[in-house]
Amino acid sequence: MTDYPHLLAPLDLGFTTLKNRVLMGSMHTGLEETKDWHRVAEFYAERARGGVGLMVTGGMAPNKEGGVFPGAAGLFSQEDIADHRIVTDRVHEGGGKIAMQILHAGRYAYSSDCVAPSPVKSPISPFPPQELDEAGIEKQITDIVTAATRAQQAGYDGVEVMGSEGYFLNQFLVTHTNKRTDRWGGSYENRMRLPVEVVRRVREAVGTDFIVIYRLSMIDLIPNGSTFEEVTTLAREIEKAGATIINTGIGWHEARIPTIATSVPRRAFTWVTRKLMGEVTIPLITSNRINTPDVAEAVLAEGCADMVSMARPFLADPHFVAKAATGRPEEIAPCIACNQACLDHTFGGKISSCLVNPRACYETELKIKPAERKKSIAIVGAGPAGLATALTADERGHDVTLFDKSKTLGGQLNMARQVPGKEEFHGLVDWYKTMIGKSGVTLRLGQAADVKTLSGFDVVVIATGVLPRDPQIPGQDGPNVLSYIDVLRNGAEVGPSVAIVGAGGIGFDVAEYLVAGESPTEDLDAWMAEWGVDDPGNVRGGIAPAGPKPETAARDVVLLQRKKEKLGRRLGKTTGWIHRAALKMKGVTMMGGVNYERIDAGGLHISHGEAREKQQLIEVDTIVLCAGQIPCRDLADDLIEAGLEPHIIGGANVAAELDAKRAIDEGTRLAANL
Ligand code: NAP
Ligand code: SF4
Repeated sequence: MTDYPHLLAPLDLGFTTLKNRVLMGSMHTGLEETKDWHRVAEFYAERARGGVGLMVTGGMAPNKEGGVFPGAAGLFSQEDIADHRIVTDRVHEGGGKIAMQILHAGRYAYSSDCVAPSPVKSPISPFPPQELDEAGIEKQITDIVTAATRAQQAGYDGVEVMGSEGYFLNQFLVTHTNKRTDRWGGSYENRMRLPVEVVRRVREAVGTDFIVIYRLSMIDLIPNGSTFEEVTTLAREIEKAGATIINTGIGWHEARIPTIATSVPRRAFTWVTRKLMGEVTIPLITSNRINTPDVAEAVLAEGCADMVSMARPFLADPHFVAKAATGRPEEIAPCIACNQACLDHTFGGKISSCLVNPRACYETELKIKPAERKKSIAIVGAGPAGLATALTADERGHDVTLFDKSKTLGGQLNMARQVPGKEEFHGLVDWYKTMIGKSGVTLRLGQAADVKTLSGFDVVVIATGVLPRDPQIPGQDGPNVLSYIDVLRNGAEVGPSVAIVGAGGIGFDVAEYLVAGESPTEDLDAWMAEWGVDDPGNVRGGIAPAGPKPETAARDVVLLQRKKEKLGRRLGKTTGWIHRAALKMKGVTMMGGVNYERIDAGGLHISHGEAREKQQLIEVDTIVLCAGQIPCRDLADDLIEAGLEPHIIGGANVAAELDAKRAIDEGTRLAANL
């Protein structure tokens, strides 16, 4: 008897059966653009072998004008079909099924060739779109249909027609972007004509025995978005037009409400899909912030959908379904929804990977093979770098001992998980505890290793992490000054008004910790009120008319940095705006271009600009130092002096811009080669 009877139940689509209710949702990884089709195939095949019911590829452009960026992958020729065949064959060998997503970006395309229903520029692209005429619309339909037939020839089990997230088809649906007065605009019947026509013509072209998923925006989260009545009307017409399954889209890309970030509560939007259950007879898939089998099972058991979509969790662990099905859910490497190695990479023009699993998208390059010679390996530091090294070295068959002077493992992850909105870090620390417990690693917590302890090992790895940088502000030794470690790790008492010195990732984290009361990430109603999300059954687009209603800040906070640039500019590409908006909503004052003159009982004295003009006292009870970090490498230096040759990784090697992503990646790659 399984703990996941709903999740693991097959789904009979009439002409084919999916082996379970899990869809790997579409992700743009950048792999297709490498044109290394063996690598693309291995990425999907690994996940097919991991037992997922159906996968959807990253978005494929139906034509040049519809590509998200110039050079975006698509199925444009017979050669392209042969390339995609490599992928579908490998997936089928692995026992999986795969559908190709057809993504026309419309006005979101990063190109001067972009087209749209009306010439309304999007706030997230510099290019104003060209308005399509009747012939232009017909061309887009034909190109989408051609892409679907080519996908069929390439061996895909189906296609997903991307109709949500504010892309091309979605742009026709709402008056926000569709100002037309012809048969493609005006009334809702006219505005939905294009998506419905696309699905009808795709079905006509591919015949009956081919999966056609339509991804439908169920809550737009933009002004003048769809009402739920319109969503329901569209869903019914899409069913009639021949779709096999309807998938849920949540929010347009230009929405100013987070939809997948780690601070969004788990399964925050499954109630939206549930509203559509019973309105159509074809299966519905729900989506967003579902990242464990328990959450997915509950969603299905409660009747919110017929199937669940998870995307990023399959970067973190390709074997998610197989582990759930064999009673090992605690072994699933958790996606913490950080976006650091996936979406931030995508938007930075880099290939996606995963903070938790550096092998994601590097399956053909980063291989964990049995060691040729078993070695005794000592690793000092049980933070992310040391843990990743230990688990990988153990997997390869080495004899591993992991030391940490702290009594708990996890290192800096233990501070991150104290921050409201970063609760997913608890799951990551728990996963490391589980995996170390199940491994052959000998864990020596509460033990400070020294030269003598380490001398007998074949290999020594130093992953001792970082120490806080000393900002050397006169008066910083006073009783009103704390470090971020005092606050986040030791729970030191902080006064009602605070100045934070340093506005990097940790400065922002400390600010969020200090202004929060209860974390809204743990309370869906509070989170919806905080960001102004409402029921699209009540209000267009699901945007609360009164706007965001955050809880009053627990403290008055001033966040400072010396650089003149906008605070938080270097935070994650896809999440920085959320941190900035969250602090703004809580009334945090942000000051750049300052000099720290001194601290006394009255607070923090600063001046402005290079000439140190305009002296100012920030009157606060507490000053928290978050001035960056330096490598902690005393032990490494001692070892080198004693003639040993330790490997030094993570923050102990280079502290600048250290994060868990780099730490885990370095540890895994080092251990793969020891
Ligand atoms: P950081 O991001 O490098 O920020 C250090 C801050 O300290 C900067 O604001 C810097 O600004 C200031 N600073 C540097 N030297 C200073 C000095 N001598 N005196 C006073 N201020 C000084 O480092 P962090 O905040 O410690 O974070 C460490 C790493 O963890 C980063 O890579 C970060 O990306 C990552 N992290 C990320 C997140 C997130 O994305 N949410 C959260 C936590 C940690 P000025 O030089 O302009 O004053
Ligand atoms: Fe999830 Fe972060 Fe990995 Fe992306 S990088 S898949 S968000 S854990």
